[in-house]
Amino acid sequence: MDNDRNKFVVLVSDKPHNLSICHFNMAGITFSGNIKSRKDTADVDILIVHGLVVTMDPSFRVLEDGALAIRDGRIADLGETADILSRYHGRKVIDAHRKLILPGLINAHTHAPMNIYRGYADDLSLNEWLYGRIFPLEMAFVNRDNVRMGTQLAIAEMLRSGTTTFNDMYYYSDVMAEVVDQCGIRAVLSEGLFDEPVHNAKTAADVLRFTEEMIHSWNGHPRLRIGVAVHAPYSAKPALYRAANELAEKHQVLLSTHLSETRWEFDQIKKQYGYTPVKHLENLGVLGPHLVIAHGIYLTREDMELLARYDVGVAHNPQCNMKLANGTAPIPELQHLGVRVGIGTDGVASNNDLDLFDEIRSSALTQKLVTGDPTVMDARTVLECVTIGGARLLGMEKMIGSLEAGKQADIILLDLKHPHAWPHYNIYSLIVYSLRGSDVETVMVDGRLLMENREITCLDQEKLYDEVQSVQQKISSWHLQKQTGGG
Ligand SMILES: [Zn+2]
Repeated sequence: MDNDRNKFVVLVSDKPHNLSICHFNMAGITFSGNIKSRKDTADVDILIVHGLVVTMDPSFRVLEDGALAIRDGRIADLGETADILSRYHGRKVIDAHRKLILPGLINAHTHAPMNIYRGYADDLSLNEWLYGRIFPLEMAFVNRDNVRMGTQLAIAEMLRSGTTTFNDMYYYSDVMAEVVDQCGIRAVLSEGLFDEPVHNAKTAADVLRFTEEMIHSWNGHPRLRIGVAVHAPYSAKPALYRAANELAEKHQVLLSTHLSETRWEFDQIKKQYGYTPVKHLENLGVLGPHLVIAHGIYLTREDMELLARYDVGVAHNPQCNMKLANGTAPIPELQHLGVRVGIGTDGVASNNDLDLFDEIRSSALTQKLVTGDPTVMDARTVLECVTIGGARLLGMEKMIGSLEAGKQADIILLDLKHPHAWPHYNIYSLIVYSLRGSDVETVMVDGRLLMENREITCLDQEKLYDEVQSVQQKISSWHLQKQTGGG
């Protein structure tokens, strides 16, 4: 029997200079002798010990019996457990024996409040789905209460599947910001810009003003950034793209847009402006490292080279693209050209979940299928897209995305005590092809535990389910009334 693997950590005393961290085997009788006086160790808030640590750092370091020391919301240090225990005393110690420790995952593109529309409109063409079902539904039900509820449901789902940062575009981002602030998750929130009036604004100028106010009011928040978002080139004219870009550049914030998602959009923009959607945005002066395009499915070789030249980021949403039969983004080609790629779920109304483990597996499998090349999008590459690659996409690579000393402590622990989690010939293959969002057990953002042993501490889920059920009933009766001609 491997004695090291059976060790666990016991806090013997919390009296200064008297505290000792002792290792016992499971029988509780073999003392390892690794006691140090508290005065020889530095105090940290949390120690995570005896875990299988996959850092995603520049050298892709993996620690078989690894530990992390967390202080003031950051990773103070990480290394072999014996070494970390000899140098640090944790006010709280988490035993991660038979647990996998990863950087928190990053969802590059979603619409969190749409969680309350999960399963409302499926198995339809994009046109029927969007114009026939989703837009009329949103006209009737987008309001502050429903946005709050949808965002809470989305955050609970994201935390339970290991997502600690998300990039979002929707309405009522002020309500979403309050929820993000309260729940402790990290996000980039943007209010969607359209030429047409939207639920909470009569004109795009109002939305631009509102966005600037949001940028000012949340400036300096440790976990929340405000971005600028234009819906798509078929719903926003050149002047709006220029104004949005000006605002994003003025405040040096992220600019997001849906781009080249469908064949229809590609043809329509070419017909209307004479150029592909990417070239159209280049003509407007919008391409740059601050821009993230969601989808990027219909791209010419010249488009791909433009994205690389201007250092534009691409948020790839494989499951949503498959479900609406839109196609697949040429991710291996984009990556070969050096384009930054993250992976998103898109909204739940078109996915129908926010589990990034599911999404990375789909991404790897579809790319292999469509290229006919099983070597593309290998497991480590695809995991990179939802960790350090996602951080690069959002301009946060110095802060999050990998487990390195000095970075914010956005960390997830996965339970490996499942048959599907063994053996471990290749840890990246295990993560991408075998593990699931439901294996995530503990989640930390900025060193704060938001979920511990599958218990979410920041939300009352029972109350939330009651509220969601009640809005579901309202939506169902509205839908029935509409179908029978009464609404
Ligand atoms: Zn989207």
